[in-house]
Amino acid sequence: MGVFQILFQERTAMLKISRLVVGYVATNCYIVYNEQAGACVIVDPGDNAAGIIKTMKEKKVSPEAILLTHGHFDHILAVPELLEEYPDLSVYAYEKEQRLLTDAGLNETRMVRKPMVLNDVHYLKDGEELDFLGTKWQVISTPGHTAGSCCYYLPGEAVLFSGDTLFDGDCGRTDLPTGNSAEIIHSIREILMKLPDDTQVLPGHETLTTIGRERVQNIVMRMA
Ligand SMILES: [Zn+2]
Repeated sequence: MGVFQILFQERTAMLKISRLVVGYVATNCYIVYNEQAGACVIVDPGDNAAGIIKTMKEKKVSPEAILLTHGHFDHILAVPELLEEYPDLSVYAYEKEQRLLTDAGLNETRMVRKPMVLNDVHYLKDGEELDFLGTKWQVISTPGHTAGSCCYYLPGEAVLFSGDTLFDGDCGRTDLPTGNSAEIIHSIREILMKLPDDTQVLPGHETLTTIGRERVQNIVMRMA
């Protein structure tokens, strides 16, 4: 968490980002917050709702929205408990992820806990722009890890939430339902690599990176 805080304090006085590593497979849940506004956005609340709520209370911020990069269990398990605590909160995901979010077999919640589906989700279109915390959040469809995986790009902050599409040096697995290896290669090479080199990439697992670093070192970029 410390590294993220330092990096983002240098970049912007307005938004800060805290990372919580949650759940069975160490998923990165991000709390993006604006202290002055007392507001935050939660990206991928994959588990540990109590820890997420505690962090928000410590920062004295209330959630404006939950954004999901995709529908796998390890990115959504805390959603119902957060909605209990904040009943007016809206949940957003890319429109092609509805199939996973409404099928407890496909989203694999059935494997790890009681089966769970999310029925009340606001579905987004590719290229749609959201306005949260005083900045633009652009929806970028990046199929491959799942058919409805997306990334959220904040051009004003030079930040990308890359979910399980782009990792430090690697990409997400494509052997789960609706996954497709040709699509993830296309998503990374032809879509995400159009972003500026200094874009900070905050992935769904493991460590932070940048587009410039991945352009050079990512395994997908080195494939023939
Ligand atoms: Zn996943």
